[in-house]
Amino acid sequence: METFPRVNSQLLAKIAGRLMRCPASPHHEDAVRTEAEQICREYGLNFKRDSYGNLLVRIQTTKAIRPFALAAHLDHPGFEIIRSLGKQKWLARFLGGVPDEYFKSGIPVRLMPGAIRGKLGKRIGKQKEFEILSDQPLETVPQFAVWELEDFAIRNQQIHGRACDDLVGVAATLTAMIALKQSCARVNVIGVISLAEEVGFHGALAVATSKELPKDSLIVSLETSRELPPVKMGKGVIVRVGDRTSIFDSAATRFLMEVGGDLKKRNKAFQFQRALMYGGTCEATAYQEYGFQTTAVCVALGNYHNCADRKKIDAEYVNLADASSMVELLMSAARQMANYPKLINRLPLRLNKLLREARKHASPKTRIKERGKARGIAEVEKSATSH
Ligand SMILES: [Zn+2]
Repeated sequence: METFPRVNSQLLAKIAGRLMRCPASPHHEDAVRTEAEQICREYGLNFKRDSYGNLLVRIQTTKAIRPFALAAHLDHPGFEIIRSLGKQKWLARFLGGVPDEYFKSGIPVRLMPGAIRGKLGKRIGKQKEFEILSDQPLETVPQFAVWELEDFAIRNQQIHGRACDDLVGVAATLTAMIALKQSCARVNVIGVISLAEEVGFHGALAVATSKELPKDSLIVSLETSRELPPVKMGKGVIVRVGDRTSIFDSAATRFLMEVGGDLKKRNKAFQFQRALMYGGTCEATAYQEYGFQTTAVCVALGNYHNCADRKKIDAEYVNLADASSMVELLMSAARQMANYPKLINRLPLRLNKLLREARKHASPKTRIKERGKARGIAEVEKSATSH
C-alpha cells in the first residue's frame, strides 16, 4: 500500500487542531502563520515568507520533476477593529462573505489579541461596520475580532470549529508534505500558504505575480467548499473542476482523476468525487488567470462561513475522512508528477481504441474514414506551439 491513511488522519487532526486554535481574520494571520511555521520546524520542512508575508514551504528531493504546488489560505472571515468609540466600545468592519441577516446584535465575539469576550453591537452605516462591545475595559486597542465559537473539536468523525475554511486546507497541505518527507518520496512540492484570501485573493495574487513560483508549476488549490449537490459530505475528496467563476485546466483535473482512480483500485476504502463547486470563487481562478496550469480539490463544508440554519452564526464542520482522502490524493499526485504525460495520455489511448472498434462495427456504407485519431491535449498543445 502506498499510503497510510490512519496515521495520516491522526496527523491531519493534530495539525488542524493546532492551527484552528489560533484565531485569524483577513490581514490578521500572524498567530496562525507562526503556528504553521512552528509545525514546519518540528517536522523539518523548509519554509520562508515571501515579500507579502505568504508562507512558502518546500520539499524538493528531485529537481527533475515539474513543481507540484498546493495552495491554501490562512485567513477566515472576521472583523478588523477600526478605532475606539469609548472605554469598552469599538468600531469594527467585517471582512469576508457573510450575508447581512446574520449580523444580529448580541452575538458573542472574541477580541484579539488577548481573547477578550465581547459582543456585536449595532450596525453603523451601509458598509459592514458595527459596534463591538467588550465585557471589560481594555488596556490596549484590539486589532481584530472573531466570532466566539469553539476553536476545534472532533465529534462524530467530523472536525468542528470556527475556521475549517481554510485551515483544513492548510492542515492537509502540511500533512501531505510531512508524510511525503517521512516516506523519502521523490517529489518536488511547494506549499503556498497565503494570506487575505477572503478579501479577494490578496496573498495568492501577490505570489502569482512574483517570481517565487516557477511558471511550469502545476497548481492545486485546496479548499473547503459549501456542500452543494451533487457532492455529499462523507463521500471523499472532491476533484473540483471549477468554481463560481472559472473552469479549471482539463488535463490537470483529469490527472487528479486518474490518480484517484488508481488509488481506488489499490484501496477500496478510498473515495473521491468530481464536481463543479459553484458556491464561491477560489484561489485557483486567481492562479489560472495569471498563467499557471491550475486545478483544485476541496472537501464539503457544513455551515459555510459560519452561516448555520435559522440565520445563526455557528462553527463550521467537515468530515475527517474526506479531509484524509484529500491528503491521500495529493500525496499520490505528488509522487505521480513524473508520470503526468503518461496519465493524461490514457484518455486519447482509450478513445483511439474506441475509434478502432467503431470502424470495425460500421457497415461498409457508413464506414468512418480513416483520418481521425485522438491525439491528447499534450500533443495538441505541442503542435499548436510548433506550427
Ligand atoms: Zn472562505
